[in-house]
Amino acid sequence: MRVGIYPGSFDPVTLGHLDIIKRASNLVDKLYVAVIKNKKKKSLFTVEERLDMLERVTKDIHNVEVESFDGLTVEYAKQKDANVIFRGLRAVTDFEYELQIAQTNHQLNPKIDTVFLITNVEYAYLSSSIVREIASYNGEIDRFVPELVLEDIYNKFKKGESEYGYE
Ligand code: ADP
Repeated sequence: MRVGIYPGSFDPVTLGHLDIIKRASNLVDKLYVAVIKNKKKKSLFTVEERLDMLERVTKDIHNVEVESFDGLTVEYAKQKDANVIFRGLRAVTDFEYELQIAQTNHQLNPKIDTVFLITNVEYAYLSSSIVREIASYNGEIDRFVPELVLEDIYNKFKKGESEYGYE
């Protein structure tokens, strides 16, 4: 059985992430989409909120499970018996950073490989930070995020919760 993990912040999940989730889920028997609990990185949504949004948008993909983890990604992968880490690549700017992480992870555990999926050109410019920025000005984000999470995002800014950690 092939098991993969797709780790990230997903703050919030975008259509770019969802595209990678769908494609990665076709390549393995089981895919864990995993929210990294990163204490150093401030986030707009709590881990629970991010999990909830991811669960709702992936509920029809039968082999996907949503979880969170802290600590090393390779340790989490090992725990899940996964031998593949999926990451998305949007542009050359992602490359150097991702290369470093993938090489480090491979050093830490040679049994685990990182597989990069190249973004769908439609989402090449899309990031969670762009979504947060546009939504903070009440701009239209329907082309960028799954419909199921639109309200969560607008509500977050309406409530003025953004000051808790918005970068
Ligand atoms: P991180 O903070 O770990 O980079 P993100 O939630 O920003 O977490 O991204 C998770 C993964 O999804 C990363 O591999 C990132 O490159 C990828 N990704 C983000 N946005 C897109 C997109 N629009 N198209 C393809 N991959 C993407």
